[in-house]
Amino acid sequence: MLINPDRLASTFISLCEIDSPARKEGRLANHLKKLFRRMGADEIIEDESAALTGSDCGNLIIRFKGRGLPLEPIFFNCHMDVISPCEGVKVRFKDGLFSSRGETVLGGDDKGGLAILIEAMQTLLDNEVPFGPVEFLFTTCEEIGLLGAKAFDADLLSAKIGYALDSTGIDVAITGAPAAKYVVAKISGLAAHAGLHPEQGISAIQIAAQAVGKLQLGLLDDESTANIGLISGGTATNIIPDHVELRGEVRSHSESKLQKHIEEIERTFLQVVEQWPVPEGIKQPPTLSFHTPDQYPLLNLHPDSSVLRRINCASSALSRHIPFIRAGGGSDANILNSYGLETAILGIGMSDVHTTHETIRLDDMVRTSELIVSLLTS
Ligand SMILES: [Zn+2]
Repeated sequence: MLINPDRLASTFISLCEIDSPARKEGRLANHLKKLFRRMGADEIIEDESAALTGSDCGNLIIRFKGRGLPLEPIFFNCHMDVISPCEGVKVRFKDGLFSSRGETVLGGDDKGGLAILIEAMQTLLDNEVPFGPVEFLFTTCEEIGLLGAKAFDADLLSAKIGYALDSTGIDVAITGAPAAKYVVAKISGLAAHAGLHPEQGISAIQIAAQAVGKLQLGLLDDESTANIGLISGGTATNIIPDHVELRGEVRSHSESKLQKHIEEIERTFLQVVEQWPVPEGIKQPPTLSFHTPDQYPLLNLHPDSSVLRRINCASSALSRHIPFIRAGGGSDANILNSYGLETAILGIGMSDVHTTHETIRLDDMVRTSELIVSLLTS
């Protein structure tokens, strides 16, 4: 059964050239609704998540009951939003490679996934090939904190296992991704005129600097990382700063290590703040407020799970080997797994994502379309 590369290329280009920054996915959602309606989808739902995400549309759920193959239902997931700069994309296609013209990202992340799924479905329908029940979940606001997935009601899907088409690499499945928490540390000092009464102030910036200097950042162990990525505070060059806020994150493939590293960071901040020398006559010592909101939960699929067994069937039908690997990022799949929907992530060949040099090869998209067809028929 032959994938049609020309049709796939033109689908991909038209998707990339529809603007869909986070919270403005509505035009793309409407385009997808029309397209799947024409293809004969059995049900198309737009959920109520817009009220929670602030997007101009909800997540899309598209259902095909299947055509004559009694396989376990599966779903495929892509996100509709694209990281900035992504407005006014003009696609360049040369020697089998898609790129933008340089001012924007391409948006292959994640429109490569959308185009691959559309082509796979069209191929099955055109050739009247029997296939199993399938659903598509197209989310909003993935790039700004997985908001669409977080606001999604898992009961809207009947499939319990699925695949997110949202990774670099080709012919590879990501079956493990870290859990992550944000770190938010606010330090309060005491303001005073820096030139006239320096002895009356406590510099929150100096405290923060000492605390950060003591932290272990970067790679913490073989499966955990930490970063302080934002710092803000102070009011003027001649005022001793009475407040500073630091924001960062810790991620780990082990939930217990994640907790241990978070506690270590809090202990370090607390020690520096509590042991800070308070000038004589000042009754107000510096204080710390420390929070670690959840960013996303762990993704850790068992090699024997039905979601991965199905990949093994599909890849052997194609005489391919699809390795299972762990990756360092968080995506919608982390959230979907936390709902009890076993979700693996498939590499779709996109490269240099989140930069204006982003590319994807047509050959790789054809290969992934073949894999989708195989997942739906074996
Ligand atoms: Zn993505």
